[in-house]
Amino acid sequence: MYTPFLMCGYAAALILMLFGFRGVRRSTPDLPGSRQLNWFILCALFGVLLIGLRPWVPALLSIVVSNFLLFAGGLFLYLATAKILERNSRLFPWPAGICVLALPPFVWFTYIHDEVLARLLIHAVVLGSIFITTSVMLFRGQRDPEIRQPARACAWLLILATALQGAWCLFESRLGPHATNFIHPDLINVGFSYLSMLLGLATVIGLLWLALTVHRLDLRKIAQTDSLTGLLNRRAFEEILRRELLRNDRSGGSMGIMLIDLDYFKKVNDSMGHFAGDDVLQRISQVLRDGTRPSDVLARYGGEEFVVLLRSVGIEEARSAAERIRMQIATLSGLPGSVNLTASIGVAVSQRKETATEFLFRSDEALYRSKREGRNLVSVYRESEDELDAEESVSSRLS
Ligand code: GH3
Ligand code: MG
Ligand code: MG
Repeated sequence: MYTPFLMCGYAAALILMLFGFRGVRRSTPDLPGSRQLNWFILCALFGVLLIGLRPWVPALLSIVVSNFLLFAGGLFLYLATAKILERNSRLFPWPAGICVLALPPFVWFTYIHDEVLARLLIHAVVLGSIFITTSVMLFRGQRDPEIRQPARACAWLLILATALQGAWCLFESRLGPHATNFIHPDLINVGFSYLSMLLGLATVIGLLWLALTVHRLDLRKIAQTDSLTGLLNRRAFEEILRRELLRNDRSGGSMGIMLIDLDYFKKVNDSMGHFAGDDVLQRISQVLRDGTRPSDVLARYGGEEFVVLLRSVGIEEARSAAERIRMQIATLSGLPGSVNLTASIGVAVSQRKETATEFLFRSDEALYRSKREGRNLVSVYRESEDELDAEESVSSRLS
């Protein structure tokens, strides 16, 4: 085999990948880590081109620069992973430092003691250290179960690539320091370099898969989140409610909903402006976060309406949770313009085989009962009587 031909094949594969990648970046411009992956492909491309030019260009370019371009590509792979997983590049100085430290011995074994095996060893140590730190990050950075699969695939590909570099060195060491002719490598050497190239390309595809998964999850999160309060929005809440109702039907448990509507909120906006109103809504969302259990599901249901899904509760528990929230809102201090804010709350507990719409309708009925009865109240929709029971006493109402 003749190295220039081999490298031409690699370069062609990388150029194809570059074009394919351009297409992905154009269709998804904010794909995380795409800039770094692009640099990885470019570094690898120029690296293999310089290796391919070995018979015609000086050793500085075809041996030293080409290898360091491949190392730089490895560092971009690390940076791409950090960007995709939103991890800080805390470990970056280690592989980068090893790259810098590798330069003097690499130059030594190129110009002073021309030893292929030593260079191969340095190559394996540098790339191996970059790959291992990257795979550690990939194993650690699985913040979501959906990310686990692509992250693990990439990590194992990098570990495999490191093992391959090690095996290559071992194989070469048996033949002595000068055995390999890198212009006319034997079949085994071609096999090692071919596998390295394949693993490199597979890792890029794996990281692209990871980046697209992360991007999809980010978009899904945006679509489910209310931008003002950071709570879930109505659509996401209703989706969760439907799922929970089905699960409850199977398990036979019950759960509660509290629908919260701020009283006379329009006045807050009218007297202090929309920004102050927004501020109040954010404060209320914090009250809800602080006053509910981690297993409860909170959402902004509409403009100044919030909803809480209380898992595994009966009617009394749901009512006292709602009463606690009502009190916390009514006694909230430090609101813009020292406004006295209150909320009316409707509570309902799930019935078997009921739909999300029916369940929400019943809590809405209870809420409107609270409004009709004078606001700053908790009303409970009682299943047994199948009618609204707003028996909350006036004494529990704050004046
Ligand atoms: P009630 O006690 O009957 O519920 O009276 P209310 O004034 O709270 O209800 P109404 O439906 O008349 O007004 C709701 C107000 O909520 C109107 C709207 O300006 C305000 N609002 C809705 N969404 C937002 C928002 O995102 N930011 C701000 N600042 N205000 C909002
Ligand atoms: Mg309202
Ligand atoms: Mg209101």
